[in-house]
Amino acid sequence: MRETSDPSLISEVRKYGVFNARGCFNCGSCTIVCDLATASASFPRRTMQSVVLGLKDSVLQGLDPWLCHDCGDCSDTCPREAKPRESMMTLRRYLTAQCQWMGLSSRIYRSAAWEIGALSFVAALVLLLIVLYHLYVVRLAPSAFTTMSMGLEHMFSRITYFTLAVFLIPALIITSHAARMFVLTMRCGPNAAIPLKFYLAEAKTIFLQMVTHKQILMCPATIHRRRWLMHWLLAFGCVLMFVIKFFFLRWFQTDNIYPIYHPQRWVGYLGAACLVIGSLDMLIGRFRKREPMRRQSGCSDLILPVLFLLTALSGMAVHVLRYTGMALGAHYTYAVHLMIAVPMLVVEVPFGKWSHMIYRPLALYFTAVKQRALEGQMAEGAKAA
Ligand code: SF4
Ligand code: SF4
Repeated sequence: MRETSDPSLISEVRKYGVFNARGCFNCGSCTIVCDLATASASFPRRTMQSVVLGLKDSVLQGLDPWLCHDCGDCSDTCPREAKPRESMMTLRRYLTAQCQWMGLSSRIYRSAAWEIGALSFVAALVLLLIVLYHLYVVRLAPSAFTTMSMGLEHMFSRITYFTLAVFLIPALIITSHAARMFVLTMRCGPNAAIPLKFYLAEAKTIFLQMVTHKQILMCPATIHRRRWLMHWLLAFGCVLMFVIKFFFLRWFQTDNIYPIYHPQRWVGYLGAACLVIGSLDMLIGRFRKREPMRRQSGCSDLILPVLFLLTALSGMAVHVLRYTGMALGAHYTYAVHLMIAVPMLVVEVPFGKWSHMIYRPLALYFTAVKQRALEGQMAEGAKAA
């Protein structure tokens, strides 16, 4: 079936960042140098040309921008300084916006003011909830807010439900976006006919990619091994914190102070250390700008690592204040911790940069399914012949 051209596509994509493909003279050097490009996934050149030609359906159905792992080798090689790496990053933002139905990703990716505004709005909402809770549930007089040393224990029964809501709401929203990605990429054109057996046969791919992040290791340079380690540490820290907060929150909801050798403390310390090391490495790299993939960093690239770092540091401060008996300080610091962690989860997971933790493994899974279906067709064709 012939695809019609949409000449407005390139200007639409450009709203999401750098897209310099008009300077490209199609030499193919970027695709040759890319360790992740294959015969069936010939990016970044072909993907960029699809945008230039206005082939919107191909772009929306394409998974290639998610296969790129942002190493920057292509931009270093390009003789025309067409910035293919940055173009792929812009396309990922564009595709993320197409996968969600509320329009918030589109605003957040196009304007740092919107991202900061959305985070600040949720932080203000959290503060309001904390104040209302103390006024109307705890019945604390406003004058006692700065003097009454209550510790954290009085809110334990409520914070369990609050924490579950803060994890489950973004999880539900991003699941709906993942469903839209499936419809856009796998239920259109020839992919619509791919039988269920191929999805089941490749189910392991999504878990493998989520756990190992091995796509980064397919770029063999040493610099990417270090990057993989830091990325993995950050993701491991997030998973550890999620497991602790979602399944074992009661560990922290006790009046007892655990001794230093207690495993609960060390699991928390490990998670916090991973978050601090991973986010600091990301921030230092972006400020130094030595690595190709760090050279073009916008405000939105800094916001997520800053939030990770502040969440970990404020959580550690709560822990220290609580264990040293500074109840009022722990109380206030916990409020600040919630005002950082909750907006990060509610805004960045379903609508911001953190959503890539779902889109990228899904894209790798769908690509593997397509490949398996193609091999199945070829095997059947060979049998028939
Ligand atoms: S290397 Fe540059 S000029 Fe050559 S195809 Fe890639 S983007 Fe275009
Ligand atoms: S940034 Fe790296 S992985 Fe992405 S297209 Fe360029 S060379 Fe390939």
